[in-house]
Amino acid sequence: ENYHAVLAENRRLYNEIQELKGNIRVYCRIRPFLPGENRKQSTIDYIGENGELLIVNPSKPGKDGQRVFKFNKVFGSTATQEQVFLDTQPLVRSVLDGYNVCIFAYGQTGSGKTYTMTGPESATEKEWGVNYRALNDLFQISRSRRDTYLYEVGVQMVEIYNEQVRDLLGHGSSQKKYPFLHNCRHCLPFNLRTLGILTTSQPNGLAVPDASMLPVKATSDVLDLMQIGHGNRAVSATTLNERSSRSHSILTVHVRGTDLKTGTTLRGSLHLVDLAGSERVDRSEVTGDRLKEAQHINKSLSALGDVIFALSQKNAHVPYRNSKLTQVLQSSLGGHAKTLMFVQINPDTGSFSESLSTLKFAERVSGVELGAAKSQK
Ligand code: ADP
Repeated sequence: ENYHAVLAENRRLYNEIQELKGNIRVYCRIRPFLPGENRKQSTIDYIGENGELLIVNPSKPGKDGQRVFKFNKVFGSTATQEQVFLDTQPLVRSVLDGYNVCIFAYGQTGSGKTYTMTGPESATEKEWGVNYRALNDLFQISRSRRDTYLYEVGVQMVEIYNEQVRDLLGHGSSQKKYPFLHNCRHCLPFNLRTLGILTTSQPNGLAVPDASMLPVKATSDVLDLMQIGHGNRAVSATTLNERSSRSHSILTVHVRGTDLKTGTTLRGSLHLVDLAGSERVDRSEVTGDRLKEAQHINKSLSALGDVIFALSQKNAHVPYRNSKLTQVLQSSLGGHAKTLMFVQINPDTGSFSESLSTLKFAERVSGVELGAAKSQK
């Protein structure tokens, strides 16, 4: 019975995947007001059932200060992590059927990118973000299919900071060792690519030949690795928080499935990308390293926008080469790959102009521009 239920569920999800139009999806998520913020001052005036959202300029009353956007989905401030994941699950599951999936979180620092992707610090299971839930789901399904499929899963984690890619799970001298490896049954303390379990040169792999790939058997292995990766992120002089808002972090899950009957294999991959904060910095206020960081972030985020836009327009030329971020993800964006962008909004009126530029970015990548739409309500 259980088996049939699983089959039916898989079929339902499969149909859902087939129905999802196009390969680029944009979900907008409004974060709730935090303690201490003034709840009366929201720039978001209305959220519709079909992905509409109305943003209001606090200093321009009336229609002139209003603008409507439309995305595949808008999650209001009361949406739970579980609800958000329900709409992400079909995409995640398609990885087991051989798709390459990229999930991004975009928005200014403090808008909830990490909350959506990972969850708050020391999250309870209920507060788990997309990446934990996705991995749990992938492992659960692969177990349910174990009579017909053998799934092997490997994980990579890299950071892009100032246009340089760093392997967060590597054994470089400046990086911490893996304390947990001593008690992890599945991970071996040497370069696992030599095992040939999964290789980075596969066509849908992350195009970082030197990034370590570690095999994982359960969500807990991945959680351990992520903790190590995050620790390695903090090696620089800046604090972890600052650093994470100025670098892109990419967690990649590679899956190889072997059909036990026929021996045929298929490969899929899931990239979970927490992007650097999109806020514009005032050139007159920052100099030196901070200005350089800001320029790199700017360049890579607009390169990402250009790539996704070109894909949404089905352009013949896709400008992947303009940033490290798009180069690294090149083989996983476009073609039959599926992309989901979470656009995060801070509802505070003080963030109006950042929110507006975030929404404009999102509108462009979704490939559906409403233009200077008037409020319908
Ligand atoms: P970012 O990664 O964009 O810099 P964070 O994810 O760190 O932003 O979110 C900023 C703060 O807001 C954190 O304290 C986080 O826990 C909180 N937060 C963000 N989104 C939510 C949410 N949906 N529900 C509750 N708290 C949230």
